[in-house]
Amino acid sequence: MERALCYGCVDDSYLSKIIRDEGEMFECAVCEESEREAITVQRLGQIMEPILREHFELGPQVIKFGEDDKDWWEQDGGLISEAVQEVLGQYFDFEDEIVNAIVDADDYWPPDGDEAYWDKASLYVPRRVQTGHYFAEWHNTLAELKHGRRFFSPSARALFEKLFDGIDDLRARRGRKRLPVARVLPKGTSIYRARVCNSRAALKSMFANPINELGPPPAEATRPGRMNAEGVVVLYAARDAKTCLAEMRPALGSEVAIIEMKTTQALRVLDFARLDEARSGKALSYFQPDFTDQVERRAFLRRLHSLISHPIVPGREADYLITQTMAEYLAHVHDKPFDGILFSSVQRAGGVNIVLFPEKGLLTNEPADAFRVKYVDNTFRLVSTTAIRYSHHNLEVTIDGDGEPWVDDGLGPPPDDDWE
Ligand SMILES: [Zn+2]
Repeated sequence: MERALCYGCVDDSYLSKIIRDEGEMFECAVCEESEREAITVQRLGQIMEPILREHFELGPQVIKFGEDDKDWWEQDGGLISEAVQEVLGQYFDFEDEIVNAIVDADDYWPPDGDEAYWDKASLYVPRRVQTGHYFAEWHNTLAELKHGRRFFSPSARALFEKLFDGIDDLRARRGRKRLPVARVLPKGTSIYRARVCNSRAALKSMFANPINELGPPPAEATRPGRMNAEGVVVLYAARDAKTCLAEMRPALGSEVAIIEMKTTQALRVLDFARLDEARSGKALSYFQPDFTDQVERRAFLRRLHSLISHPIVPGREADYLITQTMAEYLAHVHDKPFDGILFSSVQRAGGVNIVLFPEKGLLTNEPADAFRVKYVDNTFRLVSTTAIRYSHHNLEVTIDGDGEPWVDDGLGPPPDDDWE
């Protein structure tokens, strides 16, 4: 009698339901009960094979760099059994049999020239997550946006609704804590703003009126940025002074003025750093029908986070139309609008930046009121940059099947076409 597995002995809730729905009363190899629906290991292999095939591929040859400047090539990845554990999320004593069942379930036909996909001696890696179709969908919405921004583009709305669906229930896991991605910053939260100060005249006016010179800019003085189109005012700031100064990317010896402000109300913000971590928060199941959608959605959100975090590249301003539109969506179109977003600093590891959206209709002569911030007395400081610290980390270089090098930045592949 072939081994079987009952629905009570698998951790994955989706797989458990599949087994309960289609199982029969076999004796389970784990709990040795015969009173719960169970499937044979052979059937388990048939269920898992297409899932494994969709999400794992033969490992590429990768260059490894050693300590002593020697490099060598080796196949990247793990044996089929590692992929099996990854998909099941647990280990079974009879893993070899599951692997055999997967190899058997691959119904290739050698006379037709088919080759086996699975080989017990080969190594496999997770397939790169494709976010191309999100970019394609975005590409389509651009046409709409070009016809003016008098109202929010319906297809941009559809895209962002899908992307931010359920965001209020999403939590990031940090140690034992489960932290909401949509969070409330209490009234009195400190934020920092800085400006390069390159003349004594500028210093004089900054010192005389810190909030006007270093606080939220008036509408007419705004340039387009990562989170604002031309004519739209948002407030860029940092959660701490060091990050704020690093974001200025000051040259050595330059002088920068910095102030502290405090929020005058509780503000609802979307935390992109937590959003990145939330992928491990609510564990996805490979057996859930929308697994691929969910993985792609999270990968696309990480890519947006990266786009928000990086400085605007001259000549590539059009790239920021997507994050500008996203900001507009979060501020005005989302069911429960946000007052701002938090995102990671790329200029200072561990640093957090904040963008605040103004309260609608409150952009008056006092921009600070619209952004619900006020200057903290006597926090004006002038600093001079004395040292800049760089840090680097090794990247893994992979050569793909066409001989093209590919550097893994942890973000998945770039979109196929340059959407502009
Ligand atoms: Zn069992």
